[in-house]
Amino acid sequence: MPHDHHDHPHALLPSDPALRVKALETILTRKGLIDPAALDEIIDTYQNRIGPQNGARVVARAWSDPDFKAALLADATPLVAEMGYFGRQGEHMVVVENTLQTHNMVVCTLCSCYPWPLLGIPPGWYKSDAYRARAVREPRKVLAEFGVTLPEGAAVRVWDSTAEIRYLVLPMRPEGSADMDEAALAALVTRDSMIGTGLARVPA
Ligand code: FE
Repeated sequence: MPHDHHDHPHALLPSDPALRVKALETILTRKGLIDPAALDEIIDTYQNRIGPQNGARVVARAWSDPDFKAALLADATPLVAEMGYFGRQGEHMVVVENTLQTHNMVVCTLCSCYPWPLLGIPPGWYKSDAYRARAVREPRKVLAEFGVTLPEGAAVRVWDSTAEIRYLVLPMRPEGSADMDEAALAALVTRDSMIGTGLARVPA
């Protein structure tokens, strides 16, 4: 049997990236190069405190307060910073409003620029070559694949993010949400509705 030991050499290596990360963390901690508490803090920040719930609060407030909405559409950066949402990849925020006439959709054709302070870490598909190329070339097809049905006759406008500008879509307020307060409204705002690859949820 000449190939006895040739069968599955990589089966001996850890296949799970989590295992490798854990090993690295252990080594770096032992060498005193990282503080596990600081690491937990960073992970907690991106897992629990920075995420689409931040953008959803901004949207719910814009739906509830016409003055806030007007100011947000005019210059979003200082307003969202006031709400506590600022930092890396959120330095220059532009909010674009969906209407019956225009549906907005966001992409970064160059890489994966994304408004982290408002939406957290981008989903895998946002960074994919397919989305980056097709969002511009055939946005309606991409929207259909996301299950988005647009109002009859609506135009699609695609916004290409850059290192300087990050876009957030202000989705249309759904039917049946007239009596809801901001907290209840925020629960209707999905991550994809703020990228433009989804719509806000219709209340049950
Ligand atoms: Fe980018």
